Amino acid sequence: MSNGNKSLKNFFNSNKFIGSFQSYKDIKKVNTVNDCCFVGRSNVGKSSMINAVTKTKNLAKTSKTPGRTQSINIFLINENINLVDLPGYGYAKVSKVIRDNLGILIEEYIMNQLNLIHAYVLIDAKVGVKNSDIDMFDLISEAERNFSIVFTKIDKCSQSYLSNLENSMQSLMKSYKKYFNNFFFTSTKKNEGIINIQKDIYTLSKQK
Ligand code: GDP
Repeated sequence: MSNGNKSLKNFFNSNKFIGSFQSYKDIKKVNTVNDCCFVGRSNVGKSSMINAVTKTKNLAKTSKTPGRTQSINIFLINENINLVDLPGYGYAKVSKVIRDNLGILIEEYIMNQLNLIHAYVLIDAKVGVKNSDIDMFDLISEAERNFSIVFTKIDKCSQSYLSNLENSMQSLMKSYKKYFNNFFFTSTKKNEGIINIQKDIYTLSKQK
């Protein structure tokens, strides 16, 4: 393992679960470091991704029941940056009331959390972009936050499918060019692309 990768590993090994929050007012002042958040449709692979990035098995529970995580979970990485796990959105089987409440929690957090410096929007590569994802890009841009797109489960897709996806997403991102940063292509199953997200978060953690 190169020295760079070793220090990345040490960086993510030092992590601490701060708590699980159901209302935004409890989150505002958990600590003074910057936040980056992970957000995406239910079942996109968000818990698997957070576990892979932090190299822990159970930091975020992987559940087979979409829409179950109905709170915001915060993990402090290396005393430097909060990794914020937002509830999944867009799952049809969740009742409208719960769905609206989840939406409000996500919206309140993204609009008001001034120390939020980056949002990672997860998109299942095979499912592609849905209207609720576009709503998310719009919300993040309205809040004037930078974001990146993390394609998940790329092990299910062919190389040519992925390059078409990248081309069409590049066109879509022209509408968001002020806030859009990067694409990440990942598979937690094959451990692909995870290190690039870790490097990105490490770089963010240096930002004051
Ligand atoms: P969440 O609801 O967004 O937190 O998603 P989970 O992490 O619970 O994953 C949802 C489902 O997708 C589970 O059945 C996972 O095993 C599966 N999954 C997650 N990541 C991958 C991946 O990289 N490749 C494949 N093939 N399946 C994945």
